[in-house]
Amino acid sequence: MPNPQFTKPWHGVPREQIHWNPTVLEDACIGCGTCVTGCSRLVYRFDFERKKPVVVDPLNCMVGCTTCANTCPAHALVFPPIESVLALEGLAQVRHAVEDDLQARQDILAASAHVPHPDRIVKLVVQSMDKPAADVLCLTLTPVTAGACFCEFVPGQYIELWQPESSHLSRAYSIANAPHGDGSIILHIRRVEGGRFTQWAFETMKVGDTLQARGPLGAFTMRSPVGVPLLFVAGGTGLAPVLALLEQQVYFAPQRDMVLLWGMRQVSDFYALDTLQALTTRAPGLRVVLVSQQLEKPPAMPLAVRFGSGTVLDALAQDASLPGGRDIYAAGPPVMLRELAHALDQQGVAKSRVHMDSFGV
Ligand SMILES: Cc1cc2nc3c(=O)[nH]c(=O)nc-3n(C[C@H](O)[C@H](O)[C@H](O)COP(=O)(O)OP(=O)(O)OC[C@H]3O[C@@H](n4cnc5c(N)ncnc54)[C@H](O)[C@@H]3O)c2cc1C
Ligand code: SF4
Ligand code: SF4
Repeated sequence: MPNPQFTKPWHGVPREQIHWNPTVLEDACIGCGTCVTGCSRLVYRFDFERKKPVVVDPLNCMVGCTTCANTCPAHALVFPPIESVLALEGLAQVRHAVEDDLQARQDILAASAHVPHPDRIVKLVVQSMDKPAADVLCLTLTPVTAGACFCEFVPGQYIELWQPESSHLSRAYSIANAPHGDGSIILHIRRVEGGRFTQWAFETMKVGDTLQARGPLGAFTMRSPVGVPLLFVAGGTGLAPVLALLEQQVYFAPQRDMVLLWGMRQVSDFYALDTLQALTTRAPGLRVVLVSQQLEKPPAMPLAVRFGSGTVLDALAQDASLPGGRDIYAAGPPVMLRELAHALDQQGVAKSRVHMDSFGV
């Protein structure tokens, strides 16, 4: 019998709508019974005549659990791909249900002792807000107290930013600049349909607000020796950490051979073009390709910046000089990064040369 304790909705999604349970490969099964006795949710019963497990209550199976498959000595149990569960976690409904549940059961779920962590929490003031494209907000944040800042961050890192009225609503944002002496940082925030934090940022946040931030976090930092040429790939606001890395290179190695491929849905989505233009002037080795799926009336740009049509993957495929011997630094939406990783793998690029900063599940 399905047990109501086990078949309740999974983070708001009715359990019957989720295909997650084991299948027994009978030819491989040796009938040891480990899975039957090991599953506390009574998913299985045992057919004593045939000496085989039988999946009788598949909905009792815990979504994402693969314990029985992991402990099967004959590798005779299979599950749907874990990506089907990860895709559910990408849904706003699921993400928000987890967040709400954490809050609702805080008294039970809170760790009794705080684990010390090396990153710091500081307060930052919204010094300026700029909306250079319909769905992009560029923020400049400065420390409330001089010196209490992320002055020591490494270009490419990110911070976690809290909404002021909430003790728990926080999201990660990449720092879009190399360290400045005054501790100010720039963030590029893209509006996400139905997104909790971005809705607040676009509709309520104002200059002068004080936000709590934790960091610096992340390891999307320059790893390549100075002589190695670089390929940067950015999707949407994935430009932010890439700009920080470029600013660092322009300062330390302006002659370096560098290419940036930046993808947006339409030409009017591109922003910070004056910043990119300035970088190409200061770094003669930098070439920028702005790729858009709808290439309508691109603005005039200097020679080192050109527009292309399609996606960053199309641009990569069409340019025979890429990736060449370059180390690759890519940031943005997970879907783009997954496809890029696949394309680079097909081209035989060693994984050790590819560095990625994913903005989501
Ligand atoms: C290390 C790191 C760095 C990041 N840096 C940046 C940055 O510099 N600029 C930036 O704009 N974002 C960045 N993000 C994404 C950011 O943290 C938030 O996820 C995003 O702003 C959405 O938050 P939200 O509360 O509005 O949406 P939520 O309420 O959390 O989510 C709503 C829905 O949108 C989906 N979603 C979440 N993020 C995205 C996204 N980026 N694109 C498409 N769909 C999404 C969710 O899966 C969910 O289905 C970064 C993420 C990580 C992990
Ligand atoms: S995956 Fe976990 S819950 Fe599901 S049948 Fe196996 S042991 Fe039981
Ligand atoms: S643990 Fe594996 S081999 Fe043993 S009964 Fe279950 S499926 Fe068969």
